[in-house]
Amino acid sequence: MRPSQFDYILVGGGLQSGLIVLALKHYQPQSKVLVVERFERLGGNHTWSFHPKDVSATASAWLESIVEYRWPSYQVRLKRFEKKIDVAYASISSEHFASMVMRSIESEEAFVVRTNTEVTEIAKNEITTSKGEKVSGRLVLDCRGPGPSSASLYSMCGYQKFWGFEIVLKSDWPFDGPIVMDDRVDQSDGFRFIYSLPFERRRVLVEDTRFSNESAIDRDECLAKVRMYLAAIGVDDWSIVREEHGILPMPISSELFPGSNGQCKTGENSQALCGGYVGGWFHAATGYSFPLAIAFAETVASSTPESAESELAKLAQMHRSRARFVRFLNRLLFRLVKPSTRYQIFRRFYDVLSNDSIARFYSHRFTWRDAFRIVVGWPPSGLQPIRFMGSFLPAAAHASARSNPKSATNSLKEMGI
Ligand SMILES: Cc1cc2nc3c(=O)[nH]c(=O)nc-3n(C[C@H](O)[C@H](O)[C@H](O)COP(=O)(O)OP(=O)(O)OC[C@H]3O[C@@H](n4cnc5c(N)ncnc54)[C@H](O)[C@@H]3O)c2cc1C
Repeated sequence: MRPSQFDYILVGGGLQSGLIVLALKHYQPQSKVLVVERFERLGGNHTWSFHPKDVSATASAWLESIVEYRWPSYQVRLKRFEKKIDVAYASISSEHFASMVMRSIESEEAFVVRTNTEVTEIAKNEITTSKGEKVSGRLVLDCRGPGPSSASLYSMCGYQKFWGFEIVLKSDWPFDGPIVMDDRVDQSDGFRFIYSLPFERRRVLVEDTRFSNESAIDRDECLAKVRMYLAAIGVDDWSIVREEHGILPMPISSELFPGSNGQCKTGENSQALCGGYVGGWFHAATGYSFPLAIAFAETVASSTPESAESELAKLAQMHRSRARFVRFLNRLLFRLVKPSTRYQIFRRFYDVLSNDSIARFYSHRFTWRDAFRIVVGWPPSGLQPIRFMGSFLPAAAHASARSNPKSATNSLKEMGI
């Protein structure tokens, strides 16, 4: 057998692969690494935010220097409830992230980045590109992100969808730090709020966001909401310099658990390990990827290519029960509570949890005490018990239940519920 050309092959050049590159550069600078990205540059078009408390002390060593924006706290505004959360918040644009990743390896010949190259087949120790080239590696990691292949895996879920407009203003932005939820907008299509990140006093990302049961999103309708919000807060002279949007599936059952490797395969014989979104390494109730993607990168980089699989299995096991709990929360959010009353869940979350518990929740490291605190005191008003029970039906029955609630009730009766 001929020797592998690389120690690590990372398929896809997004958040997960970039984090692995940074971690490998720190832990194994002598390793031979290949990153293959189908587009012209790494990173895509995102603003990635996270809580610096998500980052373990060991990961800070290789991650701290890439953070672009930092705030000591943030706010939430939900109906008549307002709270300053004294937990630090940070953001990185994907452009900055890509340039930091490239800069970290610019003098490392053993780290190779190939852009404009689509990978068409992925096997355990080999990839094939659209040009027919085969490249071998001791460990191949499939980090192709959320795409059509993963979307079809969700038989039942809700969606966090958003359209963000980065704007420049002629006068100063009226708020000091990020507002992660401000629901002073028209509540149509789920629970809806504006998310704002002031990068500078006159350059702000303003995002129309909602937790909805439907996946469709319309750019102009989102812009209209943002326009109304800006007028309401007295910001009237502004122009758009960049846009980004996302539709993040929020699973309610066992789909894409961290480490649920068998679900993202395109080739029948593929046994490559999956990282990032497509490997289930994201927080199902918040849509944030950072905490789990960092943990994944640390685990890969502090193992050998041969031991990574078993170390990742241990990491997945550590997160399994939390992944199950946050899916249960999604089920409550999208199936039990009516869209018009969903805000109560978030208000309660920010009201009863301490800053430390909030930080632990976002970093997917919450304790059972935190979990208990989140659900105790339920239920809020405005429940849909039939729809909630229907969500426990098998996927096919569930789909027909959505179009025919009467048949759902009959199915539940048949199941003895
Ligand atoms: C607009 C937006 C904003 C978000 N904001 C946040 C946030 O604030 N905080 C947070 O934690 N999460 C956020 N998320 C969610 C999550 O962080 C992202 O989905 C994250 O990018 C997932 O990382 P990933 O590496 O798995 O996938 P991606 O970052 O999407 O990377 C996958 C890469 O693989 C490439 N690729 C795909 N197929 C192939 C192929 N066949 N060959 C070669 N390359 C291929 C893609 O072009 C892409 O560059 C956001 C998502 C979106 C869409």
